[in-house]
Amino acid sequence: MKLTFTPHTLTFIHPFKIAHGVRTSTPIMIVMLQADGLIGYGEASMPPYLGENHETVSVFLQRSVSLLETIEFPFEIRDVMKMIDELAPGNTAAKASIDIALHDLYGKYNKIPCREMYNAQKDNTPYTTFTLGIDSAEVIRTKIKEAETFKVLKVKLNGVEDKMMIDVIRSVTNKPIAVDINQGWKTKEQAIEMIEWLHSKNVLFVEQAMPKEDTESAYWLYKRSPLPLYADESVQRLIDIENIKECYHGINIKLMKCTGMYEASQMIKKARELKLKILIGCMSETSCAVSAAAQLTPLCDHADLDGPLLIKNDLFKGIGFDNGKIILNDLPGIGVNPVVID
Ligand code: MG
Repeated sequence: MKLTFTPHTLTFIHPFKIAHGVRTSTPIMIVMLQADGLIGYGEASMPPYLGENHETVSVFLQRSVSLLETIEFPFEIRDVMKMIDELAPGNTAAKASIDIALHDLYGKYNKIPCREMYNAQKDNTPYTTFTLGIDSAEVIRTKIKEAETFKVLKVKLNGVEDKMMIDVIRSVTNKPIAVDINQGWKTKEQAIEMIEWLHSKNVLFVEQAMPKEDTESAYWLYKRSPLPLYADESVQRLIDIENIKECYHGINIKLMKCTGMYEASQMIKKARELKLKILIGCMSETSCAVSAAAQLTPLCDHADLDGPLLIKNDLFKGIGFDNGKIILNDLPGIGVNPVVID
């Protein structure tokens, strides 16, 4: 198996504001694994606040070369990923890029879409949310108009302009809203007051209400909240689910946090056993990594996979949307074709 990789940077369609400032671009790495005349595509996305970058991913991938060179068909993704995971701690986006490329290759070799490896039914995909960042009332209204065909909105709040944001949205639409606080509420009392207010505003659930380490407040809120509470930053990998299983109603799984599709499938299994709800999300990513995540959406309750809709320079064609419902194609592997690869 031969590994090659190229750095890219994503450009957003709109300047995209988030709680910690203005985000203008995200570095990504496109990975190719070649074997038997087939190419498997993978992607690492590295939002700056998570600590990986082009350099760390390149170093990790270089480190993986000698191991991957020894892998030939037929291989077990689980076994390869165990060895990759043991090369170094962390590096979850770099590991995810290898996992995605392995899945793509495996699917192409066996001529099956990856969803079939996990018994996910093509027609059972959820609707994706469409994300709105914190912005002026005018910009929010324009964005809601642009997102007219989407059935569910996702709004990122910051603990400061929360009511203003929700009121602006509600002045134009009554669509259900998924709310992401990104750890923005400072106290559990502030959080419960806001959650009760949001409960009257057709909000579906609240994501990461409190700082990720504050399990005590998360438990306190869980006991009182009229809305389902989802963990995002509090749950990175499979092993983390055990720690938060009694503090949240659901978890947000992202390939870049959990090292890819294989571990995501294990997290889905574990969450189901524990009767936790499942949201599958993404970072700023191209249709490569998002189409990989989309293969697992029939096994999840909600999806937040609008990443490719928010960027200008998508490098792949893959996941589709029909009025916001995720459409999976019948291509083998993760279901993508490259558009441009420099
Ligand atoms: Mg989140």
